Amino acid sequence: MNGPIAFLRTQLDELPCEETMQEYQAWWETTGRALSETVDRAGTPWLRMYNRQGERIDEIVMPAGYREMLLQGYRHGIVWRPLEEGDWHASFALGYLTAYYDPGLYCPHTVSLSTAVPLAKYGDALLKERYLPPLLKRDETVWQGATWMTEIGGGSDLGANVRTLALPDGDRYRLRGEKYFCSNLGAELAVVAARPQGAPDGIRGLALFLVPRWREDGTLNYLTRRIKDKIGTRSVPTGEVEFTDSEAYPIGNPEMGVYLILEVLNISRVANSIGSVALLQRAIDEAESFACHRIAFGKPLIEQPLIRRQVEAWRRRLEDAFTLAWASVNLLAEVWAQTPPYSPRYHLFRLMTHLAKYWTAEQAVQGAKWCMEVHGGLGVLAEFPVERLLREAMILPIWEGSSHRQMLDALEVMQKRGAHRLLLERVQPFVNPLELDEWEKRIESYLQLPPEEQEARIEELIPPLAEWAGANLPL
Ligand SMILES: Cc1cc2nc3c(=O)[nH]c(=O)nc-3n(C[C@H](O)[C@H](O)[C@H](O)COP(=O)(O)OP(=O)(O)OC[C@H]3O[C@@H](n4cnc5c(N)ncnc54)[C@H](O)[C@@H]3O)c2cc1C
Repeated sequence: MNGPIAFLRTQLDELPCEETMQEYQAWWETTGRALSETVDRAGTPWLRMYNRQGERIDEIVMPAGYREMLLQGYRHGIVWRPLEEGDWHASFALGYLTAYYDPGLYCPHTVSLSTAVPLAKYGDALLKERYLPPLLKRDETVWQGATWMTEIGGGSDLGANVRTLALPDGDRYRLRGEKYFCSNLGAELAVVAARPQGAPDGIRGLALFLVPRWREDGTLNYLTRRIKDKIGTRSVPTGEVEFTDSEAYPIGNPEMGVYLILEVLNISRVANSIGSVALLQRAIDEAESFACHRIAFGKPLIEQPLIRRQVEAWRRRLEDAFTLAWASVNLLAEVWAQTPPYSPRYHLFRLMTHLAKYWTAEQAVQGAKWCMEVHGGLGVLAEFPVERLLREAMILPIWEGSSHRQMLDALEVMQKRGAHRLLLERVQPFVNPLELDEWEKRIESYLQLPPEEQEARIEELIPPLAEWAGANLPL
């Protein structure tokens, strides 16, 4: 089934914001595809640090056409629809469409959403009044967001590695420190993890701050050191920033910071899952289309039994991956407004999000590799779109929390919150009772293993569980 809308129609009873989706896809087909290719070909964007007067400006210079491409997603509603209309499904359907044509571009939209949501949910009235409306605009004056947590020591263990310090200063804080991976550089706002002065060590001492790009006096609020030269996702500039007494506003109660940081990451993980499935569909579409035209041994590749069977198997896997990702969208739409202490449904959302982030990203990488193989030697040539899919796919299992961490975090929410029991309940009407019983015993006996063994053998549990959930969950 070629094209994102055609596939979504086969999966969903009703396509969210149908007319908008049609218009958005038509724009990608007529204009966006070419712009996206140009941006990728242009390589790493560059940083113009000074203006002609010698003042520091840290402008991110993107190829022509980039901004037009970027604005389409905001205009159509990836950010404003969930917050103004409560329509999370429309946001993720639009994200699916974006990522089908340009997986990297879905990152700026995602991190803007992940900035707007904690602000809307936890920000005080003044902060919301000042900073939320520009993030929800529908025209070219829209502001963007960014989510910056990772520092040089590493992104998995934020509790140990976030050294950025927040010093109280009247009605705000001043940040001192550095962030090592900052996507969507140039965004007008960022949510940033930092440790308030005097807060305890570890993850529980972290708080979430809103950091504008410009200070109140109009000067730069932080410095951009450099832009990363990456394998893929060139349609999102990623770089390093340095906070030099930067103005920052706490979002919510700083003592609850750890929950807010995880909420931000979990929204991005749901989006990563949707983006991964979209990339997988694109890889399958490209492979099938090539196989219909390439002749080997007297007939099109698609008529060779092995290729035909592989295409069918990938299409089934695509459907299961979509089910898993969309199940986490459904749960997010249901629980997003909850605050700690969360309900059991919230913990089910967490489990589903880790399973989906892990599984869909792995499928995207394998699917992109297979797509390249179907293209043979042509697949590795930079003049065709296929090698780009593999470059883009390689980032999906790493950012927003690596695959190892997704598996281990899924384990934690099963151990501490028993979230697997709700998952099994959800699947129960759709599988045979013996199978369900086997899974229940398998998980419970796994959770009795010594902790070190549970971690070491986690690949025996999570990949088959994610695959099984994807194959059996209802949409
Ligand atoms: C293109 C790109 C853009 C990014 N943009 C942003 C951004 O905008 N904001 C942001 O905050 N971050 C961003 N990141 C950082 C990203 O979130 C981190 O790369 C990710 O969280 C992993 O952290 P790390 O790279 O420091 O690896 P590390 O944390 O150093 O981990 C290294 C390896 O160890 C593994 N590992 C860690 N702990 C365990 C364990 N207990 N058991 C087994 N294995 C373990 C990891 O899975 C990984 O394989 C970006 C990354 C990339 C690649």
